[in-house]
Amino acid sequence: MATVAELANGIKAGDRRSLARAITLVESGRPDHRAQAVELLSVLGTARQALRIGLSGTPGVGKSTFIEAFGLMLTGMGKRVAVLAVDPSSARSGGSILGDKTRMEHLSRDPMAFIRPSPSQAQMGGVARRSREAVALCEAAGFDVVLVETVGVGQSETMVAEMCDLFLLLLAPAGGDELQGVKRGIMEMADLILVNKADGDLKPAALRTMADYAGALHLLRKRPQDPAGFPKAMAVSAVEQAGLAEAWAQMQTLADWRRSHGHWDTRRADQSRHWFEAEVRHGLLAALLREPTKGIMADLGNRVAKGTTTPEAAAAEMLALLGKPG
Ligand code: GDP
Repeated sequence: MATVAELANGIKAGDRRSLARAITLVESGRPDHRAQAVELLSVLGTARQALRIGLSGTPGVGKSTFIEAFGLMLTGMGKRVAVLAVDPSSARSGGSILGDKTRMEHLSRDPMAFIRPSPSQAQMGGVARRSREAVALCEAAGFDVVLVETVGVGQSETMVAEMCDLFLLLLAPAGGDELQGVKRGIMEMADLILVNKADGDLKPAALRTMADYAGALHLLRKRPQDPAGFPKAMAVSAVEQAGLAEAWAQMQTLADWRRSHGHWDTRRADQSRHWFEAEVRHGLLAALLREPTKGIMADLGNRVAKGTTTPEAAAAEMLALLGKPG
């Protein structure tokens, strides 16, 4: 195994094998690996920044087709593009909806691109925490754009939004005129809603769906981090590569505006704080689940289940063991 310094130098020089190894290191559950990962991330720092773009959509909307086409467009412009996946299904079952490299056949062979599937071993929170670290590694490796893909399941969108500068929601044309059951919270996170498959017979439906979402977005409360006209709904066709340049132009407009109005830095600062707190929360729980407190935790859990104590009282008792009851 390469040393931390070797990995750091390799990553800074843009060496893909070093990057791949470093991502494996941050995904590892071994305590000695964790210590190295923490050191590596500290050594690399945050001097380089990519545009981090989160992309969410349910299976079948065309995420991989879109990423392939969009990624190739960007590499064609001379940009280096990394693609990471956050897949809650892989955490639960070991099987992945995302992250199969063969889904993006051309992009995965593009020397300007780097594609990494979702880690599969960790809990969902773990997948997201390690993915955020992988994003940081890709930034340090000098990628211009880091795309973080996720499926519209559970908490994954919120977690991906917490590690990205922009958040895109990819939708398919709706059959009728109803909105596709997209939760309000997810709409509120989106910076751009892209209605894909606006081609052939599906084009009229895609345009209708786009108009529906444009209307719905219009009704949302204006966010301080947005210039006029955002968030926006657009129609694209990943297959015909239509609307991709326009979507990219909108992303740049938004990113530039946020940079020049201080929102970019504020968001990144808030995100750092969020992940710091998430790491502490996770670490505290993990510590309590080790001996000597593990047995007490199990015992209190059983008593809560039996109803001989309340969840609140049991939690207070547990936290008192830390010396600082919450
Ligand atoms: P994912 O599950 O979200 O990654 O979706 P895929 O990219 O695998 O696409 C699912 C299906 O939709 C495939 O059969 C694609 O060929 C099709 N598809 C993806 N993008 C488009 C598009 O822009 N237009 C049309 N007509 N079909 C598309």
